Amino acid sequence: MRSIWVTCALATISAVVLEAQFGGVLDKARRRVEEAKRKAKPVTDRAEKAAATYAAWSPEQEQQIGEATAAKMIAMFGLANSPALAKYVNLVGASVARNASRELPYRFGVLETDIVGAYSLPGGFIFITRSAVEGMENEAQLAGVLAHEIVHAAERHLETEVRGKKTSVWAIEEAKQQVNTNETPEFLRKRAEALVQDLFNTKLSREKEDGADERGVQLAAQAGYHPAGLLEFLKTMEEIQSKPEGQRATNQLLSTHPPFAERVERLRPIVAQAGNQGQTNAPRFLAALK
Ligand SMILES: [Zn+2]
Repeated sequence: MRSIWVTCALATISAVVLEAQFGGVLDKARRRVEEAKRKAKPVTDRAEKAAATYAAWSPEQEQQIGEATAAKMIAMFGLANSPALAKYVNLVGASVARNASRELPYRFGVLETDIVGAYSLPGGFIFITRSAVEGMENEAQLAGVLAHEIVHAAERHLETEVRGKKTSVWAIEEAKQQVNTNETPEFLRKRAEALVQDLFNTKLSREKEDGADERGVQLAAQAGYHPAGLLEFLKTMEEIQSKPEGQRATNQLLSTHPPFAERVERLRPIVAQAGNQGQTNAPRFLAALK
């Protein structure tokens, strides 16, 4: 039953997902920049604009900032040169995101890098690295990692963290900036740069990470996947990290997340509670990796 559910879900969402491929992100970001250039107005009311700068992001701002940041990430790393893998990761991600706590246009991209990582940007832009996918054995593991990132995006973890941390590049930029130049290309470029720096350097609170692990396991299980996917991936990462040759690849993930062993131990009872059944879809996963 679960197997049929997953398969049907993947089939019905494929059309939507195709439109949401990352190929359109750069074009869309460029169009927004052009549009913003035309609309850019001189600053007339500094107080009002400063107040707006410090307000929480509106859904539209969240999308704009997410798009600009996604474009920056793609420019930095490039996307893996495999449309089939990109499509597959989008299908798995979208099936997991169906039960997310907040509806967003979730989009998933595979970054071409040897660094093992997964990143959640505002607005539902989620990246996983090719090296992370290659370290997995099945679809349940991919679903578990994407689910962890979906929780971060749904619950606005990055936004709330960078606003709350005085040391974050975003917070420093915000404090320096006395006027709101929202929607101008300069605003988006600076914000995207600040956010990427925070993304790679900011440790989210332990509460947020534990929450993303716990609710990620539940989200993947709700989509019909075996709940142990994330835990198994973390165990693999722990093994890789224990070898000197594996440390370079996993250090970045460790610098922003709690130690793998602690996450594994914390997840064990949560996974046990979620039940010992669900799809792993190893053959389909391995076929997509080819
Ligand atoms: Zn995380």
